[in-house]
Amino acid sequence: MNDTIFVLNCGSSSIKFQLIEPHSHEVILKGLAENIGSKRCQIKHAGGTLSLPGTGYEEVIAAILELLQPYQADIKGIGHRVVHGGEHFSESALITDEVIAKIKDCNSLAPLHNPANLKGIEIFRKSFPMLPNVAVFDTAFHMSLQKQAYLYAIAYEHYEKFHVRRYGFHGTSHRFITMEAEKLLPHAKNIIIAHLGNGASVCAVKNGKSVDTSMGFTPLEGLVMGTRSGDIDPGMLPFLGKKLDLNTEGLLQMLNKESGLLGISGISSDMRLLEEEMEKGNKQATLAIEIFCYRLAKYIASYEVPTGGADALIFTGGIGENSPLIRKKVIDLLPSFTLDTKLHQNLARGQAGIISSKGKTIGVIPTNEELLIAKDTDDIRRKL
Ligand code: ADP
Repeated sequence: MNDTIFVLNCGSSSIKFQLIEPHSHEVILKGLAENIGSKRCQIKHAGGTLSLPGTGYEEVIAAILELLQPYQADIKGIGHRVVHGGEHFSESALITDEVIAKIKDCNSLAPLHNPANLKGIEIFRKSFPMLPNVAVFDTAFHMSLQKQAYLYAIAYEHYEKFHVRRYGFHGTSHRFITMEAEKLLPHAKNIIIAHLGNGASVCAVKNGKSVDTSMGFTPLEGLVMGTRSGDIDPGMLPFLGKKLDLNTEGLLQMLNKESGLLGISGISSDMRLLEEEMEKGNKQATLAIEIFCYRLAKYIASYEVPTGGADALIFTGGIGENSPLIRKKVIDLLPSFTLDTKLHQNLARGQAGIISSKGKTIGVIPTNEELLIAKDTDDIRRKL
C-alpha cells in the first residue's frame, strides 16, 4: 500500500474519520462515530457497526485506533479539521505546542467545536508521537477578506478588544471548490460558490482568494439552512425572548436547531424529504423551499459586488450536488444567469460538470473536504 493520511473531524458528540491515499484519492477506511457518551453510541464503518453504549470520547478513539491497526505502518500523518483558527491562521499548520495554544485561544469563539478538535489532537499526538499532526481550519480560507467585508457596523473597539468580526466557515470546502474550478473552468477568475449542505454558505472568490462569505462571527449568519435561521433582525430577539420566555441560550438553541427549513416546514431539515413533500402538495414544505431559494438567489446576486462581476457560479454540498430542482429554482430567480436545460438534464447526480455556458458559466462540483485535509497534511509533512 502507498503512504496514507488519517483525517479526523472531531465534533462534540461525533467523530468522522477517513484514511486516504492523498495522490490516488483512494479512501481506504471511512467511518463515523455518533452519539458519543450516550446509550446510542456507535461506530459505523465499511466493515459494519460497532455498538459502544455509554462510551466516552477516549474509549471511542481507542476503538477507532484498533480499526486502524492493520494500516498503521503506512500512515504518514494525521490531518485534523479544526473549526476556528481566529485571526491566527490563514493556512493549515503543523501542530506544535505553540499552535495548540493558539487554537485554545480561539476556544471562546467556538466553544462547542474547538475543545472537541483539541481533544482529538491531544489523543492522536500521544498515540502517534512520531507522526506529524496538521490542523486544517474552517476559517483560514476567509482570512483574505478585507475590512469592509469582515467588520460589523458596531463600535470598532468591539473588534479591537474582543475580536468580534465576520470569520466565515466552510473554508476548506470553498478552497477545494476554488481549486477544482480552476481545472473545470480555467477562464473563470471571479466565481461565486454556493455550498448547500445541512449548513450552507456562499463565498465570493476573486483570483483564487475568498473576498466575501455569508457566514459570520458564527455559522448562524447568512443563508437559510437545515435548522439554522441565517440572517435575522437581532431586534426580534428580546421580543421573542419575552413571548417565549427564553433566555439567550434558549434563543440561540431556537435559531441554530429549530429554525431554517425545519422551522418553516415543521417537517424536516432534510431537503430530499421536503422535495418529496412538495411533490405531494404540502404547503409548508413548499414554502420552506421557496424561502431557501429566494434568500440564496438574493445572496448570489449581491455577490456581483465583491467579485466585481462573477464569471461563474458553482453549486456544491449535498443539496447543490444532488438537487436539480433547487439549482433550477435558484437560477430562475437570477436575472444574470441562464440554465442550459439540456446540459442540466444530462448531468448525473453527484457528478462534476457545466450546466450552462450561456453568458455566465454555471457548474456543479462535488466537494471533498477530507481529501483537501489529507493533501494539506501530506504537503506539510513532506516539507519537514
Ligand atoms: P453536511 O452539511 O452535514 O455535510 P450534506 O452536504 O451531506 O450535509 O448535505 C445534506 C443535505 O443534502 C440534506 O438536506 C439532504 O437532504 C440533501 N440532499 C442529499 N441528496 C439529495 C437529493 N438527491 N436531493 C435533494 N437533496 C439532497
